[in-house]
Amino acid sequence: MFNRRKFITNATLGTVAVGTGLIACQPSEKAPVQKKNPNSKEGFPIVIATWKPNTKATEAAWQTLENGGTALDAVEAGAKVPEADPNDTSVGYGGAPDRDGFVTLDACIMDKDGNAGSVTFLQGIKHPISVARLVMEKTPHVMLSGDGALQFALENGFQTEDLLTENAKKAWEKWLETNKYEPKANINQHDTIGILAIDKNGDIAGACTTSGMAYKLHGRIGDSPIIGAGMYVDNEVGGACATGVGELVMKTLGSFLIVELMRQGMTPQEACEEATARIAKRYGDTLPEGTQVGYLAINKKGEHGAFSLVKGFNYALYQMGGENLSLDADALKS
Ligand code: ASP
Repeated sequence: MFNRRKFITNATLGTVAVGTGLIACQPSEKAPVQKKNPNSKEGFPIVIATWKPNTKATEAAWQTLENGGTALDAVEAGAKVPEADPNDTSVGYGGAPDRDGFVTLDACIMDKDGNAGSVTFLQGIKHPISVARLVMEKTPHVMLSGDGALQFALENGFQTEDLLTENAKKAWEKWLETNKYEPKANINQHDTIGILAIDKNGDIAGACTTSGMAYKLHGRIGDSPIIGAGMYVDNEVGGACATGVGELVMKTLGSFLIVELMRQGMTPQEACEEATARIAKRYGDTLPEGTQVGYLAINKKGEHGAFSLVKGFNYALYQMGGENLSLDADALKS
């Protein structure tokens, strides 16, 4: 006799198997490629950050780990380096202002337990990453924005300062002469730091901090403070972070996508390449020449991946048994 109860159970199980990718466990004719980044090896501690100048950040993060800090302490320490650097024109102090001359900052942080904190449109505070960490640790919320984020920072002992340096102001005044918003690949309009770390216990954390695209519209928020877009961590799987034109990263939820692809069996390199290809497939024809998005990822074993839309994306890597390196990422388009 037809057993309806049994049929429903089997049908449900089938759906679950497909939905969770379990079906991939069945023997397939073709072995998966499992492409690796040529510079990737297994092992932790590891710290990885977007853009070569951030070897200074990976150094600080590494020292934090050496001194017994957690992955969370390490990514915060690393992110604070470009935030305080007046010569980094895309992060914190010295960051390029928006179209109206205001330096507005976005940042987020995430820990091994899936806790997350974020600030957007924060002005006058040099270390938005530390405010984001406090949002995570001291409030029931994930994201504070604008005046509310500032008020929270001040209540917690942060002090305001003028973050618009003379150099950033001069560059903005020069830009005002043409007043053209044209993000270009790999130049200082986007040098956001996304940083990921695994500590000696094998726990993962991530952070991302930026002044956003130079000369953006007043009020614009990018991908960097959006959990799952600019950065995402899942301690069971790995972490990912992004730099480049934030609108594209937000529309594809790039960092979350990369972590989910790794969950389903991709290497960090394959996952970064797939997330980049997704952008190219969906928006490629409409993008101005040279539009950049770069992704970094690490998995639980400490393997890493890096990939970008166009050539020129690079990153900093410090891993157990090795030195502090700066490396070039492969790209979809040279
Ligand atoms: N992703 C950042 C944003 O869109 C820019 C960057 O990477 O520099 O705000």
